[in-house]
Amino acid sequence: MKKFKSLSLKTTTSAHTACTPHVTCACCAALTDKHMQDENRHDHCTENRTKCLFMAAGIYVIYILSTYFLHYENRINYLFLFLAYILSGYKVIKSACKNIIKGRILDENFLMSVATFGAIAIGEYPEAVGVMLFYGIGEYLQTKAVGKSRKSIAKLIDIKPLTANLIINKQIKKVDPHHVKIGDIILVKVGEKVPLDGKVIKGCSDFDTSPVTGESQWRAITEGEKISSGIINKTAAIEIEVTQTFTNSTVSKILEIVENAGKNKSPTENFITTFSRYYTPPVVIMAILLAGVPPLIFNEAFSKWLYRGLIFLVVSCPCALVLSIPLSYFSGIGISSKYGILVKGSNYLEALRNVRTLVFDKTGTLTEAIFKVNSISLASGVKQDDFLKALSIAETGSTHPIARSIIDYIKEDSHHKAADYSYDLNLIQNWREIPAKGIEAVYEDQKILVGNAQLLTENHITFCKTENYSNNTNVYVALNGKYLGLLELSDQIKKDAYTAIQNLHSIAVRTVILSGDGEATVQKVAQNLGISEFFGSLLPQQKVEHLEKIIAESSKHKVAFVGDGINDAPVIARADIGISMGTIGSDAAIEASDVVIMTDEINKIPIAVKIARKTHKIVWQNIVLILGIKIIVMLLSIIGMANMSMAIFADVGVSLTAVFNSLRILMYKE
Ligand code: ADP
Ligand code: MG
Repeated sequence: MKKFKSLSLKTTTSAHTACTPHVTCACCAALTDKHMQDENRHDHCTENRTKCLFMAAGIYVIYILSTYFLHYENRINYLFLFLAYILSGYKVIKSACKNIIKGRILDENFLMSVATFGAIAIGEYPEAVGVMLFYGIGEYLQTKAVGKSRKSIAKLIDIKPLTANLIINKQIKKVDPHHVKIGDIILVKVGEKVPLDGKVIKGCSDFDTSPVTGESQWRAITEGEKISSGIINKTAAIEIEVTQTFTNSTVSKILEIVENAGKNKSPTENFITTFSRYYTPPVVIMAILLAGVPPLIFNEAFSKWLYRGLIFLVVSCPCALVLSIPLSYFSGIGISSKYGILVKGSNYLEALRNVRTLVFDKTGTLTEAIFKVNSISLASGVKQDDFLKALSIAETGSTHPIARSIIDYIKEDSHHKAADYSYDLNLIQNWREIPAKGIEAVYEDQKILVGNAQLLTENHITFCKTENYSNNTNVYVALNGKYLGLLELSDQIKKDAYTAIQNLHSIAVRTVILSGDGEATVQKVAQNLGISEFFGSLLPQQKVEHLEKIIAESSKHKVAFVGDGINDAPVIARADIGISMGTIGSDAAIEASDVVIMTDEINKIPIAVKIARKTHKIVWQNIVLILGIKIIVMLLSIIGMANMSMAIFADVGVSLTAVFNSLRILMYKE
């Protein structure tokens, strides 16, 4: 429960002044940290409150029956009313007093207490009991609804493993995952969550990846493969060599993002907070004026106008807004995470709904970034071994997907041909990765260049640039100013990319590609996907410049950039919304982005936009519903056409309706 704390719906200070829940365990307070950790106390407290409300309701019914049906007029009746009032209102009055002492005067308890005291003062005893009773029942139902949604959202991201089975000297010891070090060996039994990121060193099993990716799909992972924390072992025990500390493991990263999401509030949420802060005092003054001034001017009965003023007071509480609006965003972020989309705050969720342009990086975003070596073309007189050795020296230190694929290829090649491309790591000097171009390094005083045509041209190397109009990427190699040859690599377009692009177009989102790869390759990918705007051969800085142009054209609509992060962090940070790929994405990109797609699937983006739009729609439905009904009842109360039951409906009834409406977001299905 604790891990979920920051995403919990905290009632802000201002919300408290406007509307503090009437009992310690009521709706809003049920979501604060303290209560999260103290569920038992909370349950116990609600139980007592429920009993009191039930008894009060029973007594109230007896009163109504005896008075209105049996016409039994006796002092005993007043005793019934008194009892029902105390049972339903005791806690409200107590909280109001407590909050006054703490300096929070205009809270909801206070409003309800004053309203019922007023009703008693003018002899409307049954009304006073009715107000307290229905207010109590409404709050009770609200607590239930909010508590239930909180639990279901908490379950959506319940991925934190509590222990790890550490293997020391063939003995298994249960330890806190924080205490496991890189290189340690842990055992993961069937049914357990993988506690830390690592590599499987013994056994193979199927894993339910849904806690991390949101998709309940089983994946087989075998010896030698990487494994991410958070997924659940389904079929056989395995041993893992830990490659990341707990703090740097996938689970911790996800939790950190989700926990901090509560801090980034949407403009609508901030508006509601400010609004409720300034709204209550003038409304209370208006209620006082309504009760006090007309009797003096029109020389009318004081009690008549006091009653109208009291109705006005009951209606005025902004609790419904303060409660339902954050709950809506909270639900939006919660349901997104169920789909493997981590949104870092409700401000980004709000921005997402307004996205009209989505800019893509190519490699790793639209394509798999798993390159296959198609062919090698050597310059005349160059030996393949020298070519591959130069390549492996240059690429070993790079994390670029091209480099990783080339290294894998060379390893395999040397294995098949029993060739030896070994070199001494210590002799590599001035190794340098040039973003979006390639690698430069010096080995035994020989300068190696590996990268795209631009890199070689800039270094005045003469070579024959082969034009390719396929999906392929060419990697050129030069040694000491002499061209050695090129490697032709092919990458696959991601399976879901085509449908994702079509889905985006269908919800009126424009798509653009900005890539560091050669224009011909970018054009081919764009054509295959049906994207008409594309730019290639861009350096990271040029990607930013292009994006800025697109942002300037888009006026008030938002522009999102989606990248795998290699060379993309600046452009991800510059976009209105930066979206990164959680699995292949670099840490820098995940850090710089506002939305992380845990499964690396682009098809999640239209889902995120749809959830954002639904959330926005429901937020505004609630705002209009709440303010609309409140304003109508307030106006009716001024002209004397409203009664207390209408006031109670405009407060508690509307609040409940708004809460249930918010929860509809959790029912989003793709
Ligand atoms: P994208 O924008 O499509 O993701 P990058 O900006 O990551 O592409 O890279 C652009 C181009 O720079 C690559 O297509 C490749 O030609 C070259 N390049 C970058 N890093 C390397 C590397 N380590 N080895 C070889 N070529 C590289
Ligand atoms: Mg890339």
